[in-house]
Amino acid sequence: MSRRLTMILIDQETDMLVNIDMQKTFMPGGGLAVTGGDTIVPIARRVTDRFRRESRTATLDLHMEGHISLASSYVGIDSHTMVNFEGVTDLKGVANPDRLAARALFSVDDFMDYMRKVKRQVLWPDHGLYHTEEARLHPAFRRDEFGFILVKGMDPKCDSYSAFYDNLQRPTGLAQILRRQNKRRVFLQGLAFDYCVGFSALGAVTEGFETYVIEDATRPVGYPADSVRNMYAQFRAAGVRLITSADIGA
Ligand SMILES: [Zn+2]
Repeated sequence: MSRRLTMILIDQETDMLVNIDMQKTFMPGGGLAVTGGDTIVPIARRVTDRFRRESRTATLDLHMEGHISLASSYVGIDSHTMVNFEGVTDLKGVANPDRLAARALFSVDDFMDYMRKVKRQVLWPDHGLYHTEEARLHPAFRRDEFGFILVKGMDPKCDSYSAFYDNLQRPTGLAQILRRQNKRRVFLQGLAFDYCVGFSALGAVTEGFETYVIEDATRPVGYPADSVRNMYAQFRAAGVRLITSADIGA
């Protein structure tokens, strides 16, 4: 990957930093542990310090128990299982009232309807449960140092990777907020590269923002095996720019 020769100077008026899901739930010891997820904290902290409060957004991935994306909402389904509409074996296994756990906050019809629209969904281990300590913003950051905090994942019938749209493509309102603030460029870091950071970056491009992902301030889940490669390919096609924290000047 070629490196930039010039520093990127932050313009506090037109640039926005979006810290994606900096929660212990995505770090070693957490419910959906991303390998090395904790190692990005000091880097992400330094990058955050380059932006003033009004130019910082933080997202939090929060779910209720019984959320459609959690393997524990189903009976006998392991986490890190990809279900998809074409993969009939998986789908048949899930789309059966007997396969929904008592805690499920959705019906079989809801599940079928959702799968028809999203086509594929990974069922994850419990993570981001709103009442748990690990779901809170990582203690290296304070909520009040962000101009905007976006909570995603609270609709029990829909997962939400991107900060710009949920997985049913319904807007979160972030794009409108950025436009109102005359933002032109979006910088992203956090967890995880191949899901929430990646889809947020693609969403930012779709919304017309010049989009940068700070590579040393993110780490991937790596499931399924081609998730990272696929995200890089989507970045290339969309024009997402990859930088490191060292590229950002004062
Ligand atoms: Zn989640």
